[in-house]
Amino acid sequence: MPIKVGIPRTLLYYYYFPMWKVFFEALGAEVVLSPPSTKRLLAEGLKNAVDEVCLPIKLTFGHVLDLAAKADLIFLPRIVSIEKKEYICPKFLGLPDMIRNLKGLPPLIDVNVNMYRNKSGAYIAAQEAGRFITSNHFKIWNAYRQARKVQKKYFRLLQLGLMPSEAMAVMEDRVRNEHLPEPQDINVVLIGHPYNIYDSYISMNIIKRLRSMGATVLTAEHVPEKIYKKCAACLPKKLFWTLGQHMIGAALYYLNRHDVSGMVHVAAFGCGPDSMTGDLIERYARAAGMPFLNLTIDEHTGEAGIVTRLEAFLDMVMWKKAIII
Ligand code: SF4
Repeated sequence: MPIKVGIPRTLLYYYYFPMWKVFFEALGAEVVLSPPSTKRLLAEGLKNAVDEVCLPIKLTFGHVLDLAAKADLIFLPRIVSIEKKEYICPKFLGLPDMIRNLKGLPPLIDVNVNMYRNKSGAYIAAQEAGRFITSNHFKIWNAYRQARKVQKKYFRLLQLGLMPSEAMAVMEDRVRNEHLPEPQDINVVLIGHPYNIYDSYISMNIIKRLRSMGATVLTAEHVPEKIYKKCAACLPKKLFWTLGQHMIGAALYYLNRHDVSGMVHVAAFGCGPDSMTGDLIERYARAAGMPFLNLTIDEHTGEAGIVTRLEAFLDMVMWKKAIII
């Protein structure tokens, strides 16, 4: 029987799941993924997490608890840095320690991912994680190489304009071709942490809603690394967190594009970095005359309120586009 490695469908799942999956499977393990977020998973998270943490971290508690009975090990790395000379939000760093206190969990693969000094931090983390499954170094190296290849392909698909679920479907051959959604009348940029905007439960299906209201949705993940980094470098001071830099760099890039009609920023309640990047992005958007909507989501956010605000925002975007034409 292969060892079952559980991976929660939250946080950096939206960036790295294809790579982690290939890595563990190449080592002979079976990957078990928690289901898409639901009210029940969030309720479990709220019951077990400390009050002070942000919404996506609370949700992660629910996902990990769901995996407890299904997996032999749970992959929950201690992520310190995913880019050279940059850090990621400290909640990622403390996550394995917060989760460890839950009762009835299998052992955690809580290896350090730290690329602050150089990118070889990723391979060091892979080596440590691989040793939970096998002691064969060559096998681990081979699995890592396969995983990196898959990751590059995944990022390329995102940059073509696919959303993570669509890119993963292409990678897993669930859809035959790279299908891009049909272009719509207006382009709306959706900026937010990937685990907020792409989680259809906590974002209340914002991508699907915007598309059904006639918008093509553009996100930070569609912008190539070189471009968003160059745009983020225009700020008077470098932003501290990697994901914040990514969001603001992408927002600045889109603000310079003439085919963009509006921008929506999604922030999680209880997120310090979001309050700062959201405010900065809003200032730049207002200065550029771009219609802007800021949505803060928490466990009490009602669907009706979000829909009403999105509809009003899109009416404004259409009206502005009509008077410009
Ligand atoms: S960046 Fe914000 S939403 Fe993300 S883990 Fe940190 S506090 Fe939570």
